[in-house]
Amino acid sequence: MEKDFNYYNTLLVQSVGSKVGPVAPTVVPSAAYGYTDAQEAEGIFAGEINKPLYARVGNPTNGKLESIVAKMEGGFGAIATASGMGALAMVTTALLKAGDEVLCIGGFFGGTYTLINETLRRFGIESSFCDVDDFTHMEKKLAAGVKMVLMESVGNPSLRLPDMKRIADLCNSYETLLVVDNTVTPLLVRPLELGADIVIHSSTKNMSGHSAALGGIAVFRAVKEEGDKLHNEKYKDLHPIIRKAGHKAFIPICKKRAIRDMGMTANAFGSFLTMLGLETLALRIERVNRSVAKVAEILEKSLPEGIEVKHPSLPRSEDYARYQLDFPNGCGPLLTLDCGTAERAFALLNALNLVTLTANIGDNRTLALHMESTIYSDFDAEIRRFLGVTEGLIRVSIGLEDPEEIAKDFLQASTYV
Ligand code: PLP
Repeated sequence: MEKDFNYYNTLLVQSVGSKVGPVAPTVVPSAAYGYTDAQEAEGIFAGEINKPLYARVGNPTNGKLESIVAKMEGGFGAIATASGMGALAMVTTALLKAGDEVLCIGGFFGGTYTLINETLRRFGIESSFCDVDDFTHMEKKLAAGVKMVLMESVGNPSLRLPDMKRIADLCNSYETLLVVDNTVTPLLVRPLELGADIVIHSSTKNMSGHSAALGGIAVFRAVKEEGDKLHNEKYKDLHPIIRKAGHKAFIPICKKRAIRDMGMTANAFGSFLTMLGLETLALRIERVNRSVAKVAEILEKSLPEGIEVKHPSLPRSEDYARYQLDFPNGCGPLLTLDCGTAERAFALLNALNLVTLTANIGDNRTLALHMESTIYSDFDAEIRRFLGVTEGLIRVSIGLEDPEEIAKDFLQASTYV
């Protein structure tokens, strides 16, 4: 069946709702779970009996969310986490150790950048960053034995689009794990189908849409019995878990090496709220992506000189060809406005009426934020340049309002610049 918006509308409402008993997902808030007897407790701890152990390592409400998102991404299994950063922290700490190196491709959200470049470095995990199209650097690092490649499906806020298939093929030829943060493009790109191993989402964003639930999730492929890249010697510290868990191995790798000991677990009520968002995700994504291209087109035509709108759907964009080829239904809710200076950006933001100023993206409402003075305020100038954060840059996340009204608000605000 073709994975278009019709497919996802059917899949998501049918999976979130139940036909028998409570129709809406059940919230199970208990932290602890009683076992029938000592033997059952032993079996649950050994992973041989599939029943809740203790809420830090999973609960039934999270379990329902995990199975829906795994299906949505075409994965084998998933683990819901307390936030998107929780999912990134879980995957990196579970799969890497001191002395390993991560290769980071393209633009990154500020929190991901500092996780890799500051926090993981403090624990001896090295990293390098390169442009989406710097295949020379990628090949060099892959040949030198990096353990993980990390990228965002669309750079936030750089809006650079990677050639995901080419990068996945390269990672597969060097038997190296590829992790894709697909937060900005749920339902628009399927990284596992293109050859990635793990997909991460901040479900706080479009997946929920309502800004009512902080959450994250990592989706995994099944581990193959023969010829899997995880069998490569460089992953030998994972081999005991793989021998025991077989095709399910990514789940115990993350639970035993991160969730159990660090507790970045999702809570049941957050997962419930995320599922309420998921029901309407396909409808919202279709509308938002049509609106982003429309707003970008109107602003491109009508903004005064000195304010530049950036979006890959605009023919002058450096990634226009890739957008046309690989993102036929859009590349998410973001566009950016470069006003030249921070003062001009502040003047525009302060004159907006309809738009909400906040640090989130992927909300049902249109949001905007000046990048340099907020998320990237403690980054040095060279790193900001690499991440595409210029002095006058405003990140805009388009919502469900009438696109003509959204554009009108930015145009009236631009007269105050
Ligand atoms: N990844 C991307 C692309 C993001 O935009 C964000 C947050 O803005 C995150 C990860 C982190 O997600 P959370 O805020 O849920 O921790």
